[in-house]
Amino acid sequence: MADISTALDAIIVEPTVFELSSPGRTGTTMPAADVPAADSLPEHLLRSELPLPELAEVDVVRHFTRLSQFNYSVDEGFYPLGSCTMKYNPKINEDTCRLPGFLFTHPLQPIETVQGNLALMFELQEWLKEISGFAGVTLQPAAGAQGEFSGVLMMAAYHKMRGDTKRVKMLIPDAAHGTNPASVGMLGMQVVTIPSDERGNVNLEALKAACDDTVVGMMLTNPNTLGLFDEHVEEVIRLVKDCGGLMYGDGANLNALLGIVRPGDLGFDVMHFNLHKTFAVPHGGGGPGSGPVGVSERLLDFLPNPLVGIIEEGDEEEDLAPLYGFVTPKHSIGRMKAFHGHFGGGLVRAYTYIAMHGPDGLKDIAQHAVLNANYLQAKLRGTYRIPFDRICMHEFVAEGRFEGSDVRALDISKRLIDYKFHPPTNYFPLIVPEALMIEPTETENKDTLDRFVEAMLKIAEEAQSDPELLKSAPHTTRFGRMDEVKAARELILCCWLPENYESLT
Ligand SMILES: *Cc1c(COP(=O)(O)O)cnc(C)c1O
Repeated sequence: MADISTALDAIIVEPTVFELSSPGRTGTTMPAADVPAADSLPEHLLRSELPLPELAEVDVVRHFTRLSQFNYSVDEGFYPLGSCTMKYNPKINEDTCRLPGFLFTHPLQPIETVQGNLALMFELQEWLKEISGFAGVTLQPAAGAQGEFSGVLMMAAYHKMRGDTKRVKMLIPDAAHGTNPASVGMLGMQVVTIPSDERGNVNLEALKAACDDTVVGMMLTNPNTLGLFDEHVEEVIRLVKDCGGLMYGDGANLNALLGIVRPGDLGFDVMHFNLHKTFAVPHGGGGPGSGPVGVSERLLDFLPNPLVGIIEEGDEEEDLAPLYGFVTPKHSIGRMKAFHGHFGGGLVRAYTYIAMHGPDGLKDIAQHAVLNANYLQAKLRGTYRIPFDRICMHEFVAEGRFEGSDVRALDISKRLIDYKFHPPTNYFPLIVPEALMIEPTETENKDTLDRFVEAMLKIAEEAQSDPELLKSAPHTTRFGRMDEVKAARELILCCWLPENYESLT
């Protein structure tokens, strides 16, 4: 099987594969001008040549269609990528975000001309408040990580406003997503790692020992990345609050909680939502993220600026709609993003998803997500070791290794590709050796889950009978096993290199 470098070399240097340009070919025909020709541009602005590829429409369509066939997507098959929530994205979302009234508006238009957009944003803020139990929501952040950064900034602003300047430490469980410590590090705070206990909960003794008056707060993912609901979450929150800290919830993945538990009611002060995970916005190369943040009463005044608000009340009896506009929180941490967040790509799609399901439908999502994950866990238990073996929420973590075999999680994942499944998340969370983190989501039916189980059981057999088959997988894709180290160290994101590439570098 050719390794990645030979495969890439073949693409880069083989002109018949990638360099399709031919002088004079074109994909457009311009009509004859029906206005007098303008004066030509000044000489100094003219370029003698513009080295763009010259291609007919059919060449371009075939080129990109061919490239897309190298790929795998949730529209093609099962994608149990834990924590990332690759649920199916209903196509009605694509219709709504392309409605001309949304598509052809500009964020700098006068508010009177974009009342529909503002009404949608206002209502989405209200719905997210209702779903999460928070007092206020900003839609600005571009993704989960930026939501975290915004939330932690508000926590810091809150302590600073009270003159409480000793607080520099953020408590983060060892199961946390890597963005948590990264967001905290960007603000110059110290990360204190809190270990998990043997049931996958926050270790209460370690937490007690870490709580003091230098603590900004704690960032907790619940259910955590093991897919487990912390059995002492109320105690954890109480301990953090007792030492004057604030409680941050990582709500990237709310699938298990929708319509069942509201983090605001549990006592969290701030939380980001990943609309691109929980609320079916395409992501991972498919579209922009969106990471709104909800806050409790005491952080309301610190929300990013601006929020969408009602600036003139309507009157239902008079059939008079309210006037929506922008409002500035009193001690706002400022603007987090150009304009107002990812409006069409993120907010309109998530709004559609929530509207389509309604409160009962959202609860169904949570119940099916949890049922599907537990079904897979029950079917794989015994063949694959489940290190924290209890009822899981929307995902669970298995170990991708077998007694007396040197097959690793990576080999299992690569072999799954041959069975036409996207692999689960590998090697995360870090506290499980050879982790395979499996999140089926609510959108998969039993047939798909059964086929996945069958493939996983078959692979476990192959690990004993023919380990080499796994170690050299995948065998059915255009490219075989990648050299992962080389791919990370010598990343080439652009397969097409212009002819004068050498002189540019
Ligand atoms: C995905 C994820 C994040 C980060 O979200 P991005 O939108 O990728 O920045 C944070 N925490 C958890 C638990 C996640 O799954």
